[in-house]
Amino acid sequence: MIFATGNEGKMREIRMILGDLGVPVVSMKEAGTAADIEENGTSFEENAIIKARTIMEKTGEITMADDSGLEIDALDGEPGIYSARYMGEDTSYDIKNQNLIDRLDGVPEEKRTARFVCAIACAFPDGRILTSRGTMEGLIAHEIRGENGFGYDPIFYLPEQGCTSAEISPEKKNELSHRGKALREMKKQLAGCLEK
Ligand code: IMP
Repeated sequence: MIFATGNEGKMREIRMILGDLGVPVVSMKEAGTAADIEENGTSFEENAIIKARTIMEKTGEITMADDSGLEIDALDGEPGIYSARYMGEDTSYDIKNQNLIDRLDGVPEEKRTARFVCAIACAFPDGRILTSRGTMEGLIAHEIRGENGFGYDPIFYLPEQGCTSAEISPEKKNELSHRGKALREMKKQLAGCLEK
């Protein structure tokens, strides 16, 4: 089974969670395939399906893909499906994160709600598609904090942990994260499918 990502960090998380599925899960690189896929869907699910289906059609193998991002309620869900492209792919996350904090200037605590969303799609050569979704709720912090994680983690405050998602361990992040939840849900669906 292929997981259509070029991101080694994501592959480590994926192997940790899907390791006992009974079917080896390999990256695109390990499968010897690559593709420049245009993510032109209008939702996380659509983009995940586009990626999974494209690689499945290219390789003939069962393929999973994910699409994820940050939704900020006070900004009508921005950056959402444009999270990676927000302010340009090459802009540093220090700049992107500071820009989002500045845009929320004056927004009271109770309106700083946000969530990370992850959709996973699995495309089978017989045309079947499975999807799963996971979310992690939090608040947009007032300052950048933490060195772990990546992307928007340093401004994503987890009230129950009392810190940002860039300040928790990778194991804790896997337990709480949108991607961890979506992967575990996909694993359940796959276990049912692969038994048949
Ligand atoms: P994707 O790789 O196309 O799914 O893009 C996801 C983008 O959303 C990333 O480049 C990050 O900007 C953001 N993102 C998704 N998940 C996380 C996370 O767990 N922490 C921080 N940022 C994330």
